[in-house]
Amino acid sequence: MFVSEIFQSLQGEGRYAGHPSIFVRTSGCNLRCIWCDTPHTSWHAEGEHLTVAEILQQTKAWVQVEHAVLTGGEPLLQRDLPELVTEMRAGGHLITVETAATHFLEGLRPDLFSLSPKLSNSRPGSDHPKARALHDGNLNLDIVPRFLATDCDVQVKFVVETAADLAEILTLVERWRLPRDQVYLMPQCDNGDLLVERGRVVAELCRQEGFNFTGRMQIELWGNERGT
Ligand code: SF4
Repeated sequence: MFVSEIFQSLQGEGRYAGHPSIFVRTSGCNLRCIWCDTPHTSWHAEGEHLTVAEILQQTKAWVQVEHAVLTGGEPLLQRDLPELVTEMRAGGHLITVETAATHFLEGLRPDLFSLSPKLSNSRPGSDHPKARALHDGNLNLDIVPRFLATDCDVQVKFVVETAADLAEILTLVERWRLPRDQVYLMPQCDNGDLLVERGRVVAELCRQEGFNFTGRMQIELWGNERGT
């Protein structure tokens, strides 16, 4: 498995925000979101190749931490991800897998699939033609229903830049018949000031439409140093 970093922190987003969690961040992604907050796992993927046993050797330092988050990059590009999920669940952890949901792995059964389907606000500009072509070619939202059809819990997070993103979100929520309680909107931002500014817009959309709001604790508290 190509791994960027392994650490322990608090989950910053979504249903388990604030819960102490072990993070295994894989490196490598099939998308190139223009606002990617972990470009060291996508635009310029860096990391080291570790076996599942080597990862478990590191995570066993936090055996008392209940939650574990397998994130990226795009962790579903790692073929041994199901084995890591199985082993960590056997060790007593509750596993969240964070994914953009453009790729599905048979046999992968975490406790929670945290899907983050990318909207058109993620698309690289014409000044990045290769990245744009790769992003457009791989952004296949038709894969999402395969996750919804599993027996795993699911949350769906949409990254919102402006109120104009709402129309796209509503179309997808209707297409996938998502219960609103499973849907989280979170502001696209890379600093605390923008989090507050856009967060107010997103909170109002959530209030109007009955979606969940999620902030981004890793930006609010630590400037994106530690978290999802
Ligand atoms: S899917 Fe995630 S890791 Fe990949 S480019 Fe987009 S934000 Fe970055």
